[in-house]
Amino acid sequence: MSGEADLGAWGVYVHVPFCPRRCTYCDFAVVVGKRPSDELAYVDALVREWQSRILPQGEPHAVYLGGGTPSKLSAPMVERILGAICQRTGGLGTEVTLEVNPETVDQERLQAFRQAGVTRLSIGAQALQDHHLRAMHRGHRAQDIGRTVDWAKSAGFASISLDAIYGWPGQRFDEWQATIQGLIRLEPDHLSLYQLQIEPHTALYRKVRSGEMLPVESDLVADMSDWAGDELSRFGYDRYEISSYAHPGHEGRMNRLYWTMNPYVGIGMAAHSFDGTRRWWNVPHFGEYIERTALRQDPRADGEALQRLDLMREYSWLGLRTVEGFSRDRFQRRFGEDALTVFRPVWEQLQRQGLVQWDAERIRLSARGLDLANQVMAALIDAEAHKSPETDHV
Ligand code: SF4
Repeated sequence: MSGEADLGAWGVYVHVPFCPRRCTYCDFAVVVGKRPSDELAYVDALVREWQSRILPQGEPHAVYLGGGTPSKLSAPMVERILGAICQRTGGLGTEVTLEVNPETVDQERLQAFRQAGVTRLSIGAQALQDHHLRAMHRGHRAQDIGRTVDWAKSAGFASISLDAIYGWPGQRFDEWQATIQGLIRLEPDHLSLYQLQIEPHTALYRKVRSGEMLPVESDLVADMSDWAGDELSRFGYDRYEISSYAHPGHEGRMNRLYWTMNPYVGIGMAAHSFDGTRRWWNVPHFGEYIERTALRQDPRADGEALQRLDLMREYSWLGLRTVEGFSRDRFQRRFGEDALTVFRPVWEQLQRQGLVQWDAERIRLSARGLDLANQVMAALIDAEAHKSPETDHV
């Protein structure tokens, strides 16, 4: 059965930029060292922006509070945001996710988030070795992760997801095995395993450039990914996307919307929105975002209207992120053309390389393609360079 989101479904993304510290690998739009009064001012700004937005019809399919560290907000602030969403749409859909940093929560706080309407937690575990957590500049330690999961379970969340990072400098294979086995013992419903990306302008990038930290060999990184997939499969977790594993029925619904290019309304500093053909994003500066919304000005920084060929290329790429790939029929209904025909030379080249396969219904990555997904994306981007017109800025 296809897990694709319904055609009319849409989502809400709320960006909460506050973090207790900046992790060494992070290049997200975050602010560190703010006071509760700043958090209050920000939530006011979020609500003002939400009230000014034109919304798709009906109730959202899913709501996602990401960051940053949304669990740094108090439960009444989360309740206020969800109340404002509900007030305009009549509901919050089937899934309300809140990202949690174990450093920021206790049992009472998690119970209050549940009572405020949050149904799913995405907990940033990252590793089960304290020396790696310290090097990542995380504020929690391994023992805090299990405690957080226990509190989440007793608070009654419908779904609990754990994030972990592999390919961290100095990470040994046996440490990665211990992390996966330890996380499985906590019995989460979902796991997201992220291969470390060393982004420019991060403390990690500088440490690697200076030789203070050594990146992990690519063969070892591939072995870590393969081993984790096999181990999770033994415990009933299905890999349903490049980085995502879940027990049946616990696949993340917000991500489903992204992967099928359904619309989403993003609010908050640096938040992105997409309406089906246009994408735009808000200013990435805390003070400017608050000021613009206080003056009832548009907080958008910039945007782009995607041309048809761009949309087809992106739809293909996003659909290929999922293990089941994307439906040719759905592509045909959306764009009036067969996906295989539009990019036939690229598909054939990728098929020869053993990266992509298809049948009458779907186009998908092979097992090898899932490991080399970046190569597939690069091929699709090249295909666009031959054919696609420029995007128009709005
Ligand atoms: S908690 Fe997340 S968003 Fe905040 S600094 Fe760390 S990685 Fe970045």
